[in-house]
Amino acid sequence: MPNIFDRLDDKKGKDIGVLGSFIDIFCMENHQATERDAFPVKDARLRDILGERELVLCKDCSKLLNHGIAKLLLCPYDPKPMCRECQTHCYAPGYRERIREVMIFSSLHLIKQGRPDLIQ
Ligand SMILES: [Zn+2]
Repeated sequence: MPNIFDRLDDKKGKDIGVLGSFIDIFCMENHQATERDAFPVKDARLRDILGERELVLCKDCSKLLNHGIAKLLLCPYDPKPMCRECQTHCYAPGYRERIREVMIFSSLHLIKQGRPDLIQ
């Protein structure tokens, strides 16, 4: 079975880092009451790109991030457009609504924290 992480490059790794941070903020602010664990980054190359940063997520948010990572790596476009400007809705139903909620929530959170520079 081909490893989807073979499709990883620096740009996609950076995008995955941003996606992870956004889901991390959302989970931290909304799911404190849920049991949360360090998100296991299985691929060594991705671990290198993400660096020391640890994402702590609940089960649902981990699933969402795994789904997002897979979709990002399997993106049929080269170069990959920004997801919000893309015509293709590649997220599965259910995930699509949740990632939108996460992006809106975490963007507003970063603006309130005075860190709009972290938003791509
Ligand atoms: Zn969560």
